[in-house]
Amino acid sequence: MLTPSATSRACGTCTLCCRLPDIDELQKPANMLCRHGVEGRGCSIYETRPQGCRDFWCLWLMGTRLGEHWNPIHSHMMVYAQGPQVTVLVEPEHAEIWRTAPYVEEITRWASELQAEGGYIIVFAGDAVTKVAPPA
Ligand code: SF4
Ligand code: SF4
Repeated sequence: MLTPSATSRACGTCTLCCRLPDIDELQKPANMLCRHGVEGRGCSIYETRPQGCRDFWCLWLMGTRLGEHWNPIHSHMMVYAQGPQVTVLVEPEHAEIWRTAPYVEEITRWASELQAEGGYIIVFAGDAVTKVAPPA
């Protein structure tokens, strides 16, 4: 498995995974910056951050599947896999971006590939939750 140290990618100023998901371990609701996060800078408790934060890498950072245009800083989306589910979390301020090219074509293709493996893809964008259907 590739790890971030095996790619040239780095989080840089991205803080999407500290803002978009709900994190039970931190009692953090979705779409709200973690109380330890500093916008545009990162984690203020980086050395002592919880294990769940240490273990998390989005798929762009992993560098195994997503092209450079999926850099969360530019795409306004973070993508991660958990079991059979691939999740796309979209910044609420850019809720429609996943429906635009080239993203929607790729997401639809992934839905098809995942279905063949028994998986599926869910997009959370603002209040909308979409299970993406593979092309007919
Ligand atoms: S969303 Fe990905 S690139 Fe952004 S901070 Fe989290 S792991 Fe790093
Ligand atoms: S503890 Fe740090 S790494 Fe974890 S979500 Fe909060 S700001 Fe992000």
